[in-house]
Amino acid sequence: MKIAIAGSGAMGSRFGYMLHQAGNQVTLIDLWPEHVTTINTQGLSVETAGKQRFVKIPAAFPEDVHDDFDLILLFTKAMQLNDMLNKISHLLTDNTAVLCLSNGIGNLETIKKFNSHLDLLVGTTLWTSELVGPGAVVLNGSGYIEFQAIENVSHETVVKINDVLNEAGLDARPSNNVLLSIWKKACLNGVLNTFCTILDCKIMDLRKSQYTPILTQRVVSEFEAVAQAKGIPLTAELALKTINASLAPNQAGDHYPSMHQDIASGRYTEIDYLNGAIARMGKELNIPTPTNTLITELIHAREDIVIKN
Ligand code: NAD
Repeated sequence: MKIAIAGSGAMGSRFGYMLHQAGNQVTLIDLWPEHVTTINTQGLSVETAGKQRFVKIPAAFPEDVHDDFDLILLFTKAMQLNDMLNKISHLLTDNTAVLCLSNGIGNLETIKKFNSHLDLLVGTTLWTSELVGPGAVVLNGSGYIEFQAIENVSHETVVKINDVLNEAGLDARPSNNVLLSIWKKACLNGVLNTFCTILDCKIMDLRKSQYTPILTQRVVSEFEAVAQAKGIPLTAELALKTINASLAPNQAGDHYPSMHQDIASGRYTEIDYLNGAIARMGKELNIPTPTNTLITELIHAREDIVIKN
């Protein structure tokens, strides 16, 4: 399959690498000049289990790509999605399916607002990846993908995409309610990522505070209220099950979550697509969301202090 990865950072590089290894014709699209140049000159550096290899995959800026792709995988941060869609609009043809696996609530709406005629699939993934420098990723662990066709996609295309993802070892699972999975993951990130960023601690440290369950309950209850009003079957019980599993003694990570790493590296966060989305929708729906509003403001304040100054 001819596949373009639109946003070839940590996750895009992982998926691009795995799809390329499975024999697909992959193009990595990104706007970071050093990243694109490094991949084209030395190859993409992929480190797995301490072993480094260089893989030749073409990389390019969006405006330099002129091709017909069977599939475009959108993998920017949520707040970069609209700009990416603008930059690749010339690649969005009638024969191209678009799959977005980025985290956050609202990506679907962003894409539909941009172009409501796309062959569109959205999903979520538990794969992870770390970008350690231009042209270099470290891949650890395993994961899976849940995805669902939203608009205009034939059953045949869904099967084809599912097969291609599975042949690349990405463990794809077609879903009937992918929005629930997306909201559940946003709620998980809206607790673990934000708490660790505000409290400057690792995930496992959250276990030490008696306030973690109380604060978690407040975040989750507001997610539930807004989700129910939006017709998403997310319950506080379901969200808490996922969060508590991630905080279990042998599961709670001895690492800083990605939002903490973003702030530490001077990058903006996806907060407006996590707790911020709940605060925004709560306001529209007249549902009080004081905790998610405060958390959103605290993370933006942290961005102001660390990034803008
Ligand atoms: P990233 O910042 O490493 O990658 C995003 C890439 O998109 C960057 O290389 C950036 O240069 C590029 N980009 C942004 N706007 C662009 C534009 N307009 N044109 C061209 N290129 C553009 O982010 P990531 O960690 O790969 O995360 C991507 C998404 O996946 C996020 O929603 C994240 O929450 C989610 N996610 C990440 C992980 C992880 O382990 N990193 C795990 C699961 C989900």
